[in-house]
Amino acid sequence: MIPAREALERLREGNGRFVASIGSRDTLRSDARHIELSKDHKPFVIILGCSDARVPVELVFDQGLGDLFVIRVAGNIVAPSQIGSVEFAAERTGARLVVVLGHSRCGAILATLEEMARPSKEQSRGLRSIVERVRPAIEPILMSQITPTDDALIRRAVRANVTASVSHLRHGSEILERLIQTDGLVIVGAEYCLETGVVEFFDGVQA
Ligand SMILES: [Zn+2]
Repeated sequence: MIPAREALERLREGNGRFVASIGSRDTLRSDARHIELSKDHKPFVIILGCSDARVPVELVFDQGLGDLFVIRVAGNIVAPSQIGSVEFAAERTGARLVVVLGHSRCGAILATLEEMARPSKEQSRGLRSIVERVRPAIEPILMSQITPTDDALIRRAVRANVTASVSHLRHGSEILERLIQTDGLVIVGAEYCLETGVVEFFDGVQA
């Protein structure tokens, strides 16, 4: 089992290689690695990220087959199936770090801000289910004098949404609460910058 602090360091180092364009993804093409992995599932981290095509998690952390347990959903929201996936991975694989990874200019956040500014009746039930999960996190920071496309507002909204997902995972599951209290599980938030490729882990992250 890899402790959360060490897992976080691996992610930081991998993202550093990605940003420096010195990725080492040869593990993806190793037959020996395929065979080894068919016998065991031991990812060192669980990542809840956005489905956005510009944030492929294995690439931005320069990790290979078997390294990351990844859940991707638009807006990196936490619904019951995401909690269940994290519980499964934390209990069954032994990963001790969970990262909620948001990103700049997230379309799900923009859609929510636009919906709050100009409610539309045409939104499908499926899309509404995402907007309604994002809305409570960003409602408090939506000020009437700012337009939904204001950059500063979008940045704050992205972070507020990640923080809300982290809080939801920390407090929305008895299994995860127990693992946090007694078994070294750490849940942290982070943001990927589309422009630079850098992942910033939020303040107070001392895994
Ligand atoms: Zn997104």
